[in-house]
Amino acid sequence: MSKEIFTAKTFFDNLKEKRLMGSKCKECNALFVPSRPVCLQCGSTNLEWIESKGEGSLETFTVIHVPPVSLLTKAPYVVGIVRLDEGVSIMGRIIDVDPTEPEKIELGMRVKVVVIEENEKTVLAFKPFTTRST
Ligand SMILES: [Zn+2]
Repeated sequence: MSKEIFTAKTFFDNLKEKRLMGSKCKECNALFVPSRPVCLQCGSTNLEWIESKGEGSLETFTVIHVPPVSLLTKAPYVVGIVRLDEGVSIMGRIIDVDPTEPEKIELGMRVKVVVIEENEKTVLAFKPFTTRST
C-alpha cells in the first residue's frame, strides 16, 4: 500500500461510501480517526487502515449560533466530540437533536456515524441511537 492512501481526500471518499476510516500505527499501536499518514505519537509512517464501527458516545458538544457564511441557513446546529468505541475522539455534526433545547442533549448518549451531503461537501455527522428495543 502506498502512503497516498492516508490523505484527507481518501478519508472523505471512504466517508461517502459510509466507511469511517482510521489508521493505526504498526509501531506503537496509536489509532487515528480520521486516518493520517504519520503517527502523531512516534512519528512513524508505518500505518495501516482500520475501519471504525462508527459507534460511540457523546463526550461534549456545543451549539453553533454564528456559523461560517456557507452554513448560515443551517444555524443553530450542534457540533460535538464523540468518543468512538475504538477509543478515539472525533469531532462531527450532531443531528437529530434539538439545538434550541441543548439541556435535553445527553452527554454520554450513544451515537452512530451518518454521512450528510451539504453544499456539495461530505460532512461527518452523528445521530443518537439506542441499542435497546422498545
Ligand atoms: Zn506510532
